[in-house]
Amino acid sequence: MTILIIIYFAAIVVEMIIRAPLNKKRKAEKMTERRVTSQESTLLLLLFVGMLLAPIIYAVTNWLDFANYILPVWAGWLGVVILAGALFVFWRAHADLGLNWSPTLEIREKHELITKGIYSVIRHPMYASQWLWVIAQPLLLQNWVAGWLNLLLFIPFYILRVKAEEQLMIEQFGEQYRAYMRKVGAVFPKM
Ligand code: SAH
Repeated sequence: MTILIIIYFAAIVVEMIIRAPLNKKRKAEKMTERRVTSQESTLLLLLFVGMLLAPIIYAVTNWLDFANYILPVWAGWLGVVILAGALFVFWRAHADLGLNWSPTLEIREKHELITKGIYSVIRHPMYASQWLWVIAQPLLLQNWVAGWLNLLLFIPFYILRVKAEEQLMIEQFGEQYRAYMRKVGAVFPKM
């Protein structure tokens, strides 16, 4: 199903377009705190392999063909629907977080705690979007390596990142963030 592979790469382009203006504006921002451990840099690099490099190898070479599987057509389209959900959440998260967004853990000089928009529903919409993405990926890229590697790598990344990020937010915003945590769920809305 080449159409599914095309949709996968188109979604990556959409994410790049959503992120590009923020990436550019961020360069002018002053940061007061930056926390990147070597463990996290390694995981970020591996995630790049899972999200982009392995899918490219799968799409343009036959090296991974030994690991192909075939799902029913409806499963592929279910993947497309989940991926569309991931893009929607990704877009809203960037719109609401604005310049407070950063690829690694950072606090900028004018950092604001955002609790509005999609951040009033869940605390980690970008990571929720990534969860949807890694669930859609094995439905779209029907290959045990290109489909599943990203999910496998995202699990440890998510656990480590959220712990460190919430620690940083509590140090920065104290009781305000703790109250936000009590009220709003991490990736699932609280009932
Ligand atoms: N975890 C969030 C944000 C990811 S971007 C999400 O999944 O949508 C990571 C950066 O966002 C961190 O460096 C942190 O400084 C910042 N951040 C996380 N939550 C925030 C919030 N509610 N308000 C402002 N900045 C936040």
